[in-house]
Order: sequence, then structure tokens, then C-alpha cells
Amino acid sequence: MQVVTIVTEMRRLRAQMTGSVGLVPTMGYLHEGHLFLVRRARADNEHVVVTIFVNPTQFGPQDDYQRYPRDPERDLRLLEQEGADVVFMPSVEEMYPQGFDAWVEVGESLTGRLEGAARPGHFRGVTTVVAKLFEIVQAQWAYFGQKDGQQLAVIRKMVADLNMGVEIVGLPTVREPDGLAMSSRNVYLSLDERRAATILSRSLGRACELFDGGERRAEVIRGEMRAVLASEPLARVEYVSVADAETLAELEAIGGLALVSLAVRIGSTRLIDNVTVARRRAEYPLS
Ligand code: AMP
Repeated sequence: MQVVTIVTEMRRLRAQMTGSVGLVPTMGYLHEGHLFLVRRARADNEHVVVTIFVNPTQFGPQDDYQRYPRDPERDLRLLEQEGADVVFMPSVEEMYPQGFDAWVEVGESLTGRLEGAARPGHFRGVTTVVAKLFEIVQAQWAYFGQKDGQQLAVIRKMVADLNMGVEIVGLPTVREPDGLAMSSRNVYLSLDERRAATILSRSLGRACELFDGGERRAEVIRGEMRAVLASEPLARVEYVSVADAETLAELEAIGGLALVSLAVRIGSTRLIDNVTVARRRAEYPLS
């Protein structure tokens, strides 16, 4: 496995690759959710490139950029075990040299809602860095988690509208045995908060139960989810949404594929989670 930090070096290695290249962009502090993407990339491609970059432009001034967890040595050990070929881990200066001033942006109708409403500028940072990584790595396939459901929709839109030559693969959310979606941020949770954090997947579980029982009225589902969340004193709800999975417009009634999502603060930690529901539920069981 080769570890590179310089863009020109990454390009040089890429130019030597023949056959398909799979890219897995991450911010590091890897867990089984990331490794699931890497395994899939490994199974699908001759070459696997994983990137580790905590991207400052997608964090707001109140966000956790400084204290975002980092453990590059452990990450590299895990990626070696998974058979990654190249790990690209540039510095902030390498990705954003002095005077950097070009941005890739997907329109407000997708990025102004949900996470975008709660975190202004977040998706501009995400699409800019992902576009740069696509340009540098020139992969045929790029792997993303459904865990960040809106991010996946935004990236698909960027790739489609800008005719980027990469296929996006979205993979289901990997969960802890009690249902909590794996996230690098789970490390922030105290013992009590960790227990309380299962309220997110329990609330989504309630939505699935209602949907499976034939409920299609979005407001009824949102209301029941809020009621579940209200039973947890440590939870502060930011949003509960039942939206069209592609346009992210809030629904009155579920017809096609819907994204049921929520953002909740447990103590000072902000957690997000989602499931997609269609005629049949397109998700792994929550627990
Ligand atoms: P991050 O390091 O949080 O930026 O995540 C890197 C990639 O891993 C993104 O495509 C995420 O959606 C994906 N990911 C994060 N957590 C999970 C999870 N629990 N299951 C599946 N994919 C995940």
C-alpha cells in the first residue's frame, strides 16, 4: 500500500494504473462503515484509492473541525488489512494553497434544506473537495454511504449536471448491534449519551413500522418520530424529515422512494441518520 500526500504524486501513481479504479473518500478515524465501502471497492476494481482528508471548508465556524477525531496510524493499518492500494492524505495547504478561490456548488433546492439549512456552506465545501478528489484520482467508481443521505443526493446531482466521468455507488448504513449508525463522531458521546443516542434509530424504526403497516401520510410519520424522540430527555431535535429521495422536497404522502431523515443533538454532539422507504423497504434492518 502506498501512502501519498502530494497531488502530483497521486496523479503519477494514477497514471500507472491500468484497469478500473475505485475511490473511497473519507475524513479518516475509520470504522466498519468506511471499511464496508472499501471492501466493496476492493471487490469491484483492480485498484482501490482511499482518501483521508478532514476538509475544513465543509465545517462551519461553530462546527467541530478542530476537535474532529484523527488517528492516521490506525487508519493506515486498517486500510492495509483491507488491501487498499493507495491512500491519499493531503495536507490542508496541499488541497487549498494560498489564494485558492474556485468553488463547485449544487443549487439551493438540494443544498438549502436539511443539513444545508442547519450548516450553511457545508455542501459547497463537500462538493468542492469531492470534485477536486474526482479530478485528481480519475476513478471510474466512487463509493459513498447512505448514512449521509443528502450528501449522496447532492454528489449524484453534481456528477450528473457537470457530466463528470465517474459512477457513484451508494451503499447502506452500517450500524452498531443496538441500531446506532456508525460514525466517527460517536466517540464524542459519554456513556449516558451513547445509550440515549439509540433514540435516532428507534425513531426511524418507528417510521419503518408505520410505513410497513401501510401508513403513507408523511406528517403522521414525522409526528410519531417526534413522539419517540421526545421520550429521550438527552435528545434535542433539529429536524425530522420525510422527503422525496431525489429532490429532497418534503412530502405530503409517500409515493416513490422517500428519504426519512433526522438530525438530533445528544448533549453537544450532533448526530444524523436516515432510512429510505419505497414500496418495499430498501435498507438493512435497524437492529
Ligand atoms: P466521513 O469520513 O464521515 O466523511 O465518511 C466517509 C464516507 O463513509 C461517506 O461516504 C459516508 O457516507 C460513509 N459512511 C460514514 N458512516 C457510515 C456508515 N455507518 N455506514 C456506511 N457508510 C458510512
